[in-house]
Amino acid sequence: MQVINPATGALINEIPSDTKEHVLSKIEKLRKGQPLWADVPVEERLAILLRFGELVADSVEELAFVLTQETGKPLQQSINEIKGANNRLVHLEANATKWLAEEVMVSEGATKEQISYEPLGVVANISAWNFPYNVGYNVFLYALVAGNSVVYKPSEFASMTGLKFRELLWKAGVPEYAFECVIGTGEVGQMLLEADLDGYFFTGSYATGRYIATQVAPKLVPMQLELGGKDPLYVMDDVIDVRQAAINAAEGAFYNNGQSCCAVERIYVQEGIYDQFVEHFIEEVKSYKMGDPMDKSTFIGPLTREPQVQVLLDQVQDALLKGAELKHGGFSPEGEGYYFTPTVLTSVNHGMDLMKEESFGPIIGIQKVANDEEALKLMKDTSYGLTAAVFATDKGRAMQLLKQLPVGTVYWNCCDRVSPNVPWSGRKNSGLGSTLSYQGIRAFVQPKAYHLRD
Ligand code: NDP
Repeated sequence: MQVINPATGALINEIPSDTKEHVLSKIEKLRKGQPLWADVPVEERLAILLRFGELVADSVEELAFVLTQETGKPLQQSINEIKGANNRLVHLEANATKWLAEEVMVSEGATKEQISYEPLGVVANISAWNFPYNVGYNVFLYALVAGNSVVYKPSEFASMTGLKFRELLWKAGVPEYAFECVIGTGEVGQMLLEADLDGYFFTGSYATGRYIATQVAPKLVPMQLELGGKDPLYVMDDVIDVRQAAINAAEGAFYNNGQSCCAVERIYVQEGIYDQFVEHFIEEVKSYKMGDPMDKSTFIGPLTREPQVQVLLDQVQDALLKGAELKHGGFSPEGEGYYFTPTVLTSVNHGMDLMKEESFGPIIGIQKVANDEEALKLMKDTSYGLTAAVFATDKGRAMQLLKQLPVGTVYWNCCDRVSPNVPWSGRKNSGLGSTLSYQGIRAFVQPKAYHLRD
């Protein structure tokens, strides 16, 4: 499989893809080894994973280079991701033993009742390229600590990083029969769907997730889907520092080139502060440095996938034809690499793809609204349900709106944020099930009820 540098279009590596025979023999190895891994006490499994975290910390610069080379993520953002993802290990260290321990529910009387939490078995982790550390850790670390064996399929656009995970997990002491990586395109993912596995944990687009759901459903095994979003942010007119609100909103929209599942994808601003907000927002976006992702001062690198350039051009074209005003960007600059200038459109509405379809790139529409009622109606007008944010001074007013939104995560005066302490989940087309928090620990085990009579 060819690995292309999205900043230049140049070939940087060729990695052998797994054939069906390879995939099946890796799964067989995991199947045989999983009971051995499950027999290792949870404290020891945890200690091994913490060692993995140390190995990652020891080679942040090298790992960040690999990630930037294959995805185009600006180097500083690669470093941020790798360092930041360690909070999953901090969370597991503090919580895994507690949430995986046996629970005694009835300890007196003739019949004792208790619950034990058993691993699912061999589980598939089919992952995305945009934050491979964050979204990978959410699944494979939590699955491993619970005693599962994991077959990990990185996105074809983050395969070198996937192989690094395997190298460092094995080096830390995770047995080769507890973690494997399969390399290839969606065809290799398909092989996992056809294999006999005990759970499927997918992070990626709605289209692929929906397909996976249809394939996995007849197996009657646990399945979780962490899918895309079209996440709204609403700025109320009681915001005191409008400039700061604009800076924060722009970061939520453009960090990682907008290629975050929970990126701000549409903005609504109350009319009293609209002009001021738009002015500060554009000023901020103009200050972003676009260029070589290996330069630590770059904020906007290339898109990871070439076809996304056309998706963004189409969204701009559609919006302009329907009356939007282009305030900044709107084009892919001449030259090598899959670059797209950060783009801001106003006079937008929900008749435009820009405000309805996931953009997954550095492009945003800002719409003026009269009041909270109108904002709520527009925020809810989506097939997705990942996150939503409100910037406001009045917490009560913000909370009143946030609690009415059918999404997995809401933010007040912040956005584009994930924490291991609370569940990460999507509603509607944004997914099924939760990772992170105690729910994300329990996602990788199945309960067994014991009724014990002396
Ligand atoms: P894709 O859906 O294109 O791919 C996700 C994974 O599925 C990849 O490993 C891909 O392999 C694999 N795959 C493709 N086809 C099949 C198939 N037929 N059977 C099994 N596996 C298959 O998503 P992206 O990687 O492009 O990720 C971007 C999407 O992920 C966005 O929509 C984003 O919002 C979402 N996302 C959601 C998150 C969340 O937590 N909710 C977090 C991060 C991203 P290959 O790449 O080799 O084709």
